[in-house]
Amino acid sequence: MNKRGMLIILSGPSGSGKGTIVQQLLSERDDTVLSISATTRSPRTGEQDGVHYYFKTREEFEKLIESGELLEYAEYNGNYYGTPAEPIERYLADGKNVILEIEVQGAEKVMDRQQPDVVSIFITIPSLTELERRLRQRGTETEDSIEQRLKIARHELSRAFRYDYVVLNDEVPLAVERIHTIISAESMRYSRMENYILEVINNA
Ligand code: 5GP
Repeated sequence: MNKRGMLIILSGPSGSGKGTIVQQLLSERDDTVLSISATTRSPRTGEQDGVHYYFKTREEFEKLIESGELLEYAEYNGNYYGTPAEPIERYLADGKNVILEIEVQGAEKVMDRQQPDVVSIFITIPSLTELERRLRQRGTETEDSIEQRLKIARHELSRAFRYDYVVLNDEVPLAVERIHTIISAESMRYSRMENYILEVINNA
């Protein structure tokens, strides 16, 4: 029986290791895909259009907002980021889990809609000092952007209570394992198993 997929929201401060965790998770699961967002931020070295993001001008992005093509969007550190709605329903209906790796304002917009199938996970870091170390080590941000991202991180941590689960990223393989556990448990919720139960009753 083809079960609908889950819409998995994954948020956490910039530098919390979300990206690495997601890539590892995707390499270990063929039932899960990552939604590719649109953004007005400039590509970092090595980032490709249509692979990491759909890179847009502000004008192009505002057209996407006006035409209702985004499931959610938010402004983060002076740039727009948003989730194209169209591919998501197709994947869910096909039984695939879809990961939205998005910041907290956009995540809360999706949660406020109270769709079934949504599972939200907040990735946290051991401390803000560790977060600062990781952001510097990554070497992709200017000093201003690091300061700004740390400020936003404090705010994001204060919104963690909105999420279903909190996963500590102390070590990537452990964090990935914790997310596998969440996906397994969520797939056994009554609402997702109801059809199986009904089939057992009806075939008795
Ligand atoms: P970055 O510039 O580091 O790639 O992303 C900055 C922040 O934007 C991260 O927290 C990332 O998860 C978030 N983000 C990426 N795509 C989206 C999106 O489609 N919607 C929202 N709301 N946030 C996003």
